[in-house]
Amino acid sequence: MKAVFRRAKIVATVGPASWSPEVLRALIEAGADALRINFAHASHEKAAEIVSLARGTSQELGRPLAVMGDLRGPKLRVGELPGETASIEAGHQYRFLPPGEEASPGEISTIGPPMLQDMEPGARLLLDDGRLEFMVERLGPAVGELVAEAENSGILHSGRGINLPGTATRLPPLTESDREAIAFANDASFDFLALSFVRKPKDLETVRELMASGCLLIAKIEKPQALERLPDVMGGTDCVMVARGDLGVELPFEEVPLVQKRIIRMAQERVRPVITATQMLESMIDSKIPTRAEVSDVANALLDGTDAVMLSAETAVGANPVAAVEVMDTIIRRIEGETLSPARPMPGRGRTGRHVRGVADIQQTTSGAIAAAAVQAVGRLDAPLLVTFTRSGHTARMVAAQRPHVPVMAMTDQQSTYNQLALVWGVKPVLFSGEISYEAMLTAARRNALAQELARPGERLVVTAGVPFHVPGTTNMMRIEKL
Ligand code: PGA
Ligand code: MN
Repeated sequence: MKAVFRRAKIVATVGPASWSPEVLRALIEAGADALRINFAHASHEKAAEIVSLARGTSQELGRPLAVMGDLRGPKLRVGELPGETASIEAGHQYRFLPPGEEASPGEISTIGPPMLQDMEPGARLLLDDGRLEFMVERLGPAVGELVAEAENSGILHSGRGINLPGTATRLPPLTESDREAIAFANDASFDFLALSFVRKPKDLETVRELMASGCLLIAKIEKPQALERLPDVMGGTDCVMVARGDLGVELPFEEVPLVQKRIIRMAQERVRPVITATQMLESMIDSKIPTRAEVSDVANALLDGTDAVMLSAETAVGANPVAAVEVMDTIIRRIEGETLSPARPMPGRGRTGRHVRGVADIQQTTSGAIAAAAVQAVGRLDAPLLVTFTRSGHTARMVAAQRPHVPVMAMTDQQSTYNQLALVWGVKPVLFSGEISYEAMLTAARRNALAQELARPGERLVVTAGVPFHVPGTTNMMRIEKL
């Protein structure tokens, strides 16, 4: 028997543990739908190699695969420490140096944009994901340097992250290396670019101006400033990521679960595919099996209605990258086995009709009405499949945001749309290379549905499309076809 089509998608971050051709292929075979390349760690040369391997494997396996680049944005890190580590003692004072200066014992060097100059006495610095906390005593004497007192003790390693919660830095959203990464991603035809530390819609505009038009933008929500303006941030992006790693340092960690639910709900209302990220199977960096708490965390994100779940260090530097993807796949299938019955409300379903600012705009469009009608028709006709003909992916995303019980087969003639829809909940992209007409697409859809055993002869297909085909974002038609 064929495995049931999995609705929620898996993003795997690629790193030294997984960028060999063999492991990369195994990740994809195990179920990775998107690969994330973190420009904070991967060179452009390495990234180009990964993209070419990913594209080749996707084509060979006949499976869609999205390639995502992650821009580090304004993030500060600990620089080279004398002897690689420093022993930090509570109550002692340490001098933090501006980027580019070498540390002597007792000093902490930094790498990244010049952020320390925006700090004030009394502000907090959190190092190594919050494991070490410092309070600023005084600035100077040189610009961008400061003295801070350690609030707790521990060992500090070179290269660890520095968060400045509560400090509103005036830095631009992109560093020079981010700009170079965008130019590289444009040349390499990336499907998605994610921006870290988004603070306001203008940050997103800045990236969009530099991005290739076919690429989709992901706003990583990890700053309190972005949460304060969440509807506006959603308005300026194509997709969002609940970036729980930095989010849980910038905000008290107990805020993370509720913020996650809020972001996912709002993303679904506004038809923005959403990825839940970080530490989902953290213990699998070393272990072959996840902790029960991790399994519950993944399940919880699915029940919240996330489009995709993400693996970070688990697949980038962990000892068991392929096992981590397999575990994700297993959890998703078990949860969906329970929630995909028509009698049950789908995760996140039933909220999209609520009247929320900005949402009425989406619901009261032609495409919103068609998407809702298509999902209702599926229920009434007991149809096994929704079919969308989509160029930009808009129609498929609209339909999928309604969380239908049946798969959404998205027929597209655009390679980038085919790749991008791999990340969207419930969507099964099909690349179509024939004549661009309703009849030709329908014939291909029928053939595919039967070949992949998604429908049987005699059953009905609910088809939506935007006619004429070459104008994106104009879903205006629904038809019922018999197989
Ligand atoms: P990162 O983003 O892994 O690039 O830091 C995700 C997060 O902060 O959760
Ligand atoms: Mn982050």
